[in-house]
Amino acid sequence: MTDLDVRLRDIDARIAEAARAAGRDPQQITRIVVTKFHPAELVRELHGLGVRDVGENRQQEFSAKAAEIGALEGLRWHFIGQAQTNKARAIRAAAHAVHSLDRARLANALDAAAEPGAPLLDVFLQVNLTEDPGRGGVAPSEVEALAEHAAACQTLRVRGVMAVAPLDEAPARAFERLRAAGEAVRTVVPDAHGMSAGMSSDFADAIAMGATHLRIGSAITGPRPEHG
Ligand SMILES: *Cc1c(COP(=O)(O)O)cnc(C)c1O
Repeated sequence: MTDLDVRLRDIDARIAEAARAAGRDPQQITRIVVTKFHPAELVRELHGLGVRDVGENRQQEFSAKAAEIGALEGLRWHFIGQAQTNKARAIRAAAHAVHSLDRARLANALDAAAEPGAPLLDVFLQVNLTEDPGRGGVAPSEVEALAEHAAACQTLRVRGVMAVAPLDEAPARAFERLRAAGEAVRTVVPDAHGMSAGMSSDFADAIAMGATHLRIGSAITGPRPEHG
């Protein structure tokens, strides 16, 4: 086995263990491998190991990588980074899901970018769990209004909520607020049970709080290459 294979199996075992500890079925949890800053070749390698969900956070890198790789059986791309509205078309062209929907204008732009007959785009509403309004995500008090707006966009399917845990707080406490935001979204979209939360350092807490989509990078890929 390669190091990559070893790390992947190890994380999957830890995901299964955290799920069982929380009385949850590991099969109901989607593990997304975040491949940002790594070459397209890594995505091919992961695919060969059975990975079907990969995540990218920068539009240019994402578009280039998706184009370089082309169609790979069953591969799903998750866009997880801050998105500019003028990049909505490029994102929509390659993404199966967008986890970083944080404003009505972006919902409109992603909706308008749908090609005729294109499948619905899965979206997660990113919630800002910090006190800093400059961070990505909608304020928890605004999430219901954003859900209403996104749900009215015909080509988007609201799957749930997403967040990155703040650095200065126990992740479990932050994910509890995310769970509450998810409940607010379900008053608008009752089947939006998705919760995209949990990274290399906090995925066990996220699973305990109900995360359905984990975004795990370095614990699987190893350290990211230097970037500018
Ligand atoms: C990079 C990134 C991750 C993965 O982070 P790791 O700590 O490497 O697991 C998850 N979510 C987002 C939004 C990211 O940008």
